[in-house]
Amino acid sequence: MLKTIWDKKTTRQIAYFLLTALAIIFLWFTAQKIFNFGHLLEAYELKTFDLRATMAAKNRQHNPDIVIVSIDDNSLEVLQDELGRWPWSRDVYAKAIEYLETQNVDSVAFDLMFIGNQKGFEHKDMELAATIGKYDNVYTSMNFDYRDNAELAPDLPYKLKVNVENNSEKVDFTGFTYTYARLILDEIIQATDKIGIINFRRDPIDKISRRAPTFFKYKDDYYPYLAFKVGADYIKRHEKINFDKFLISENEELVISDRKLPLDSTGSMIINWYGGDRTYDYIPFWKVYKSAQNLKKGELSLIPEDYFKDKIVWVGVTAVSLYDIKSTPLSSVYPGVEVQATVLNNILDGKAIKRVSKSTDLIISVLLGFIIALAVIKIREPVISSLICIAIALSYIFLASYLLEHYLTWIGIIGQVAFMLITFTAMYIIKYVLKSKDFEYTYKLATTDGLTDLYNHRYFQEKLKEHMKKADKNGTRFSLVLIDIDFFKKFNDTYGHQAGDEVLRQVGQRLKRSIKPADLVARYGGEEMVLILADADTENASIIANRICKIMSDNRFKLAEGLEVDVTISLGVATYPIHGKTSTELIEFADKGLYNAKENGRNQLGPLPDISEITKTGQK
Ligand code: GH3
Ligand code: MG
Ligand code: MG
Repeated sequence: MLKTIWDKKTTRQIAYFLLTALAIIFLWFTAQKIFNFGHLLEAYELKTFDLRATMAAKNRQHNPDIVIVSIDDNSLEVLQDELGRWPWSRDVYAKAIEYLETQNVDSVAFDLMFIGNQKGFEHKDMELAATIGKYDNVYTSMNFDYRDNAELAPDLPYKLKVNVENNSEKVDFTGFTYTYARLILDEIIQATDKIGIINFRRDPIDKISRRAPTFFKYKDDYYPYLAFKVGADYIKRHEKINFDKFLISENEELVISDRKLPLDSTGSMIINWYGGDRTYDYIPFWKVYKSAQNLKKGELSLIPEDYFKDKIVWVGVTAVSLYDIKSTPLSSVYPGVEVQATVLNNILDGKAIKRVSKSTDLIISVLLGFIIALAVIKIREPVISSLICIAIALSYIFLASYLLEHYLTWIGIIGQVAFMLITFTAMYIIKYVLKSKDFEYTYKLATTDGLTDLYNHRYFQEKLKEHMKKADKNGTRFSLVLIDIDFFKKFNDTYGHQAGDEVLRQVGQRLKRSIKPADLVARYGGEEMVLILADADTENASIIANRICKIMSDNRFKLAEGLEVDVTISLGVATYPIHGKTSTELIEFADKGLYNAKENGRNQLGPLPDISEITKTGQK
């Protein structure tokens, strides 16, 4: 049963497939090394991720408790008379904080850095620091960078650090280990520990932000990303849990209470986006500022009284003129503050995107390649097998999109599709080669004799006609030699048919070895064989015939261990066109010569018969 399914052909196909797979993998890696082909594939892969992320985002709702207060172009304009040009004096933010606190916000996070005193407005800087210090739910930011004069790098107060227990071997914060801290106002640093880092991350290939850092390393200590700090505190407060240490598990996940966020080697998470181009509720800063003033004057607020109640409020710049714009998978103009809001949202949801490892991607590629190869090999009809391969590729792309949307898992598309394409092409080539081999095999079956492996009678007749045509056209001649084994009946009777068969085989082999490539040897029938000697006249043909006769009689035939026998043959020649104008006449002439040889005592080339004799029998 198994034998009928698992035939020789399947074994051959599997062997070809495995060899090809090895060759493809080898070429794949070589090409990646030489042409930086991996870089190119990765660039396209990132684009497919962006498309998938955009599609997935459409069906995802952001956290309604996150609100953005945006310093937009409109706010700059409306407040210009009162506050002058940007940057505003910092009491403005103090007033905004006070107003938001009257509405019982959950927290306020500034995606702004308050660096250095504003000359002449030092007291306003103090006012902001005091206001920030007054509340324990106001967050602000600073950043790190690289500088050569690292020995001048300032120390940061202990309260800004976080404890990280990194149990992963892969996560090492490469790219997020800095040598210098850009300090913000000292009064603020003194006033609060609610300071997060806002260094941004862009993909080195295309400068698009797809990932967000979690922690930064500076002087061997860890500092949290602003959104991460806000998120962790929120979880602590709302779930009434306390932890003084963040855990990165062995499988590269950042564990926060029951949330597990997958990280890459740089300690970043891949952002899971929400909604379309703009998602969160945006309140322009001027409304907040004016409402604060109105409230003081006992006038009506421009914003509903408890609009900000229990909300996490992000304050950041969205004004295009101030240039805090990032490129993200969703849109090429995206305010940095919304990236922070989105990262916070991911942390609260405990959901970030996990990209599978390179080896997983490779295994998927090989599996898909295997399926494609089977489709190409097993489906006879090329149109159908091609359509099926296209369907497999499309289904895979669909599956990859589905996994990203519903399981937040990023499996590769570009590498896999390229691999499928290469396998498809390679397997088609192999199939073509195998087909032509099959054709060769059938052709051989149809033209050769199974016992002696010589050409068969039919093939001989075809070739004979071809030779005659060629000789007619070129005015050349060629000869036939007809061969018959002597006393073969008696040989069979003495040694048995098996031994007879073996002699036939060995005679065939000796004949093959005695002729030139342009010549031909065929089994004419029974124990008779025939040669076509191209371009040979009767004299040359006779020399060859005599030599062959001698080869047979001078060398004994070894049939088995200890069994050697003498076998002789008789031969007759005929030359075209002088001894016959048709194939029948020519063969008959050679046969007469052969008869003469038998008459003369065998083991020889028979003397040429009289031409007239042939025509006589021919007419009979
Ligand atoms: P001679 O040609 O010398 O006159 O005598 P012969 O015995 O060879 O004459 P004949 O042509 O009458 O006999 C041919 C024999 O060859 C008959 C047949 O048994 C045997 N023969 C034909 N084909 C095969 C074959 O494929 N295998 C074996 N073993 N014998 C075969
Ligand atoms: Mg015979
Ligand atoms: Mg014979």
